[in-house]
Amino acid sequence: MNLQYSSEGIHAVDIDLWLDPQVSKPAAWISHAHSDHARYYSETVIGTSISLEIYRMRWPGNDALKQSLEPLDYGQSRDWKGARITCYPAGHILGAAQLLIEYKNERIVYTGDIKLSPPLCGQQTQIIECDHLILESTFGLPIFHFLSREQAKAEIADFARECLAEGATPVFMGYPLGRGQEIVHCLTQAGIATAVHGAIAKYIPIYEANGFSFRGWKPYESSQTEGQALVVVPGMRRQLESAGKNMRVAYVSGWAQLDNARLRSGAEKLIPYSDHGDFDELLEMVQRSGAKKIDVIHGYTEMFARQLRDLGFDASAPARARLRNSEEESIQAE
Ligand SMILES: [Zn+2]
Repeated sequence: MNLQYSSEGIHAVDIDLWLDPQVSKPAAWISHAHSDHARYYSETVIGTSISLEIYRMRWPGNDALKQSLEPLDYGQSRDWKGARITCYPAGHILGAAQLLIEYKNERIVYTGDIKLSPPLCGQQTQIIECDHLILESTFGLPIFHFLSREQAKAEIADFARECLAEGATPVFMGYPLGRGQEIVHCLTQAGIATAVHGAIAKYIPIYEANGFSFRGWKPYESSQTEGQALVVVPGMRRQLESAGKNMRVAYVSGWAQLDNARLRSGAEKLIPYSDHGDFDELLEMVQRSGAKKIDVIHGYTEMFARQLRDLGFDASAPARARLRNSEEESIQAE
């Protein structure tokens, strides 16, 4: 399969399918609904039903255009221009998917953003045997080692209870799709009163429709912050602090493991949990896939590819394949 990497995305040339294109294309596979993966207008958009539902919410203007949204859900296959394509879960966020492309006796897997261990909200992934693996490497350095789902749940709930017991308001920052709902899910499951910013709350019905409970949360109101946990978007931290109230801020992110995480996030409590795989998980995915060739994209691509080569894999970081995920990195910049 001829794969071309550019700032416009990844083009599977032989079957004219773009993987998470960054500009409008005739046909696109969207791996999940984060804003830098599910972008703009393409004539045909293939993704899971959940990803397509969120895509429509985010790009309502596309409804007026001629566009075909074609669901491909977990375990489903279809023919596409001489290839067979199959969708598998990716763990990352609700609806996130990997794509297996079978073409002329070659198996190519595009992971999109992926998490190997069970996510807080979402369907656990599986490793697909393939010849050619296109793997994200957002956290492809050995310093990244994250908490398990159970550990993260406990840390989130314990921090909230500790703050509330001393009369402080626990504040959790979460990006609008994914982390935000995961934190609200943890808090409400633990029976902790929780107020949720509207940018996060608007996706809760989709999570509920897919089996995740969010019982008892309330919309965030700036006049009522005491006696409950707040789950807000990152940009609100300074606004909350300037209100002069007794707030204690937690930062739930893979980036919490960077040396300067406290300084960058402004949070006192760092909880290193991510909806991406950590270094060991990325390595395990490479090893168990059996892939003969690995292309790494996102994050520490050059360094991760070099480490894979040191272990004997044919790995590279294709030029211009460093597609950013600004939605997730926005919290890092905060
Ligand atoms: Zn993502």
